[in-house]
Amino acid sequence: TSATTPSTTAASEAWFERARAVTPGGVNSPVRAFNAVGGTPRFITSASGAWLTDADGNDYVDLICSWGPMLLGHAHPDVQAAVAGAVARGTSYGTPTEPEVELAEEIVARTPVERVRFVSSGTEATMSAIRLARGATGRDLVVKFAGCYHGHVDALLAEAGSGVATLAVPGTSGVPASAAAETLVLPYNDREAVLAAFEAYGSRIACLITEATPGNMGVVPPAPGFNAFLAETCRTHGALFISDEVMTGFRATEQGGWGLDGAIEGWTPDLMTFGKVMGGGFPAAAFGGRADLMAHLAPEGRVYQAGTLSGNPVATTAGLTTLRLATPEVYEQLDATARTIRDAVAEHLLAAGVPHVVQTAGTMFSVFFRDAAVRDFAEASQQDTAAYAAFFHSMLDQGVYLPPSAYESWFVSAAHDDRAIQTIVDALPAAAFAAATA
Ligand code: PMP
Repeated sequence: TSATTPSTTAASEAWFERARAVTPGGVNSPVRAFNAVGGTPRFITSASGAWLTDADGNDYVDLICSWGPMLLGHAHPDVQAAVAGAVARGTSYGTPTEPEVELAEEIVARTPVERVRFVSSGTEATMSAIRLARGATGRDLVVKFAGCYHGHVDALLAEAGSGVATLAVPGTSGVPASAAAETLVLPYNDREAVLAAFEAYGSRIACLITEATPGNMGVVPPAPGFNAFLAETCRTHGALFISDEVMTGFRATEQGGWGLDGAIEGWTPDLMTFGKVMGGGFPAAAFGGRADLMAHLAPEGRVYQAGTLSGNPVATTAGLTTLRLATPEVYEQLDATARTIRDAVAEHLLAAGVPHVVQTAGTMFSVFFRDAAVRDFAEASQQDTAAYAAFFHSMLDQGVYLPPSAYESWFVSAAHDDRAIQTIVDALPAAAFAAATA
């Protein structure tokens, strides 16, 4: 159809060679490289709506969406105009500004948090939330789940998903044993393991951190009631429950991952972390929570946390404009788009006889190349990554840019219109065949 068939990738290859001469692995974040699937990552020179254009002039339907942020699609005219207006007024003052208050109000309106503090990355958000939890409780231990990724915070890199999973690095070198020793890693969706950990260490646990609905080992939804159980277990033991919504916030639903079960089951996290969508494509992230807990932060309290570019006026303007445009109708449309793509992928993989499971969390979904549902990281690891690599490259050759790893959520945007969806659907028969014969 309308996607241009990649004729050459010579320019991307040349740029990647230059990149590798000056940057480790040629990339500034590991999953951007094609280590898991082979080949050369495309150098993107521009993007508009649902489409990416590379240095060779090839167009791709984007199913990465900057790993989540681009909810409205690339170069949305209203976001562009708001950002241009902000830039014209100067890009950073190091003083309080109006858009950071308005963005905090928007986050407070959509989620159960009462106070918000801005930072510049999801990593900073989780790192700061954990420091706050430790400061507020006077305890040191942190509980996390295998396969959940919370950024490259020392204490949280043990058995993380995403890029760490892709590279099959068991944790990472460079993290002191002392930091890892403060972290308890449990299998996801395993109530027994949670109860046993709290039984053994309950009075020493500062917090349990989890993804609201994990997306960094592929999409692995919590079993019904699991998040409520976690919140309750934390409360019983005086530990804080941190829901990491860097990926799911304002993305899975209008109210993020919390909108999928928290609003219904009636539990509230003590602290939450946000990023991606709320930055509208700029480096902005946040953590927030109950007013009494957030009061522990400097300058009110004794837990120090700061940032030169925190709440940056350009970034918060982009985020604010994005969230204001992300109406309930937008999420309905994203749901419908995601459903259409999911159904088409399943139909063609089935027709080609490729074992697969599609798992969903609101507008997020991922495809596991295995024949049974995935409940935790151990199960996510038992998939046919060679089949995924073949599928990925066939899609890429036909103008569809999927995450270059089987351990990632796929992301759609409000700009994924009929033409973009049709391009995906048209690519599926050949990609499914490639996966079947991998
Ligand atoms: N938490 C979650 C759930 C994430 O998905 C990510 C990023 N993928 C992070 C934290 C870290 O965010 P950042 O990459 O902005 O540091």
